[in-house]
Amino acid sequence: MGEGAKAAPQTTSIPLTQQPPVAALHQDAGLNQSIVTTSIDALIGWGRKNSLWPFTFGTACCAIEFMALAASKYDLARFGAEFMRFSPRQSDLLIVAGTITYKQAPILRRIWEQMMEPRWVISVGACASTGGFYDCYCTLPGIDEIVPVDVYIAGCPPRPEAYIEALLQLQDKIQDSSYMKDRAAANHQRIQVG
Ligand code: SF4
Repeated sequence: MGEGAKAAPQTTSIPLTQQPPVAALHQDAGLNQSIVTTSIDALIGWGRKNSLWPFTFGTACCAIEFMALAASKYDLARFGAEFMRFSPRQSDLLIVAGTITYKQAPILRRIWEQMMEPRWVISVGACASTGGFYDCYCTLPGIDEIVPVDVYIAGCPPRPEAYIEALLQLQDKIQDSSYMKDRAAANHQRIQVG
C-alpha cells in the first residue's frame, strides 16, 4: 500500500447460522419506537378531528367561497375534512353559509337533528351568524337561535383562509373535548322553532 492511501475498513461477518432471524431483529428495533401511551379521550379526539365529514348548508354568497376552499388551491383534504356528504345522516359537521330565513329555519334544525353525534356547527359569515344587514321580518338574526354553533366566522364573505382558521379552531375544540364526560352528560333538548 502506497503512502497516503487509506486503509480499508475492517469488517466482521457473522456466520449465517449465528445471525438472529429477521423478525427478531425488527422486534428488537421496534420496541424502543413503537410503544405509545395515551388516553381514550386523546385517541378519540385525534381520530375525530382528522376525519370530519362536512354537510354544507349553503344559501347565498358565502357558499361560493366554500367552493374555493374545497378546490385544489386551499385543499381541504389537508385537514381530513374534504369528504362532503349530502346526507345529514352521514355527516358530523354542519357548515351554514349564507342568509337563513324564518322559513328555512325549521329545515336547518331538522337537518341538524338528523346528523350523527357528536356533531359540530360552523356559522359562516355575517348573515348566518347575525342576520347581517338583513334587518327585516323574514331573516333569522343568527342561526344560534335554532342550532348550537361551535365556531363563528366573521366576514362578508369570509375568505377561504378564514374557513381554514375556523376548522383549525374546531379541531382544537374536538381534541380538547372529553368523550367520556360528554357521553355521560349528553343532553340534547329540542328547541322550539316558530
Ligand atoms: S355575509 Fe355577505 S357574502 Fe355572506 S351571505 Fe351574507 S351578504 Fe352574502
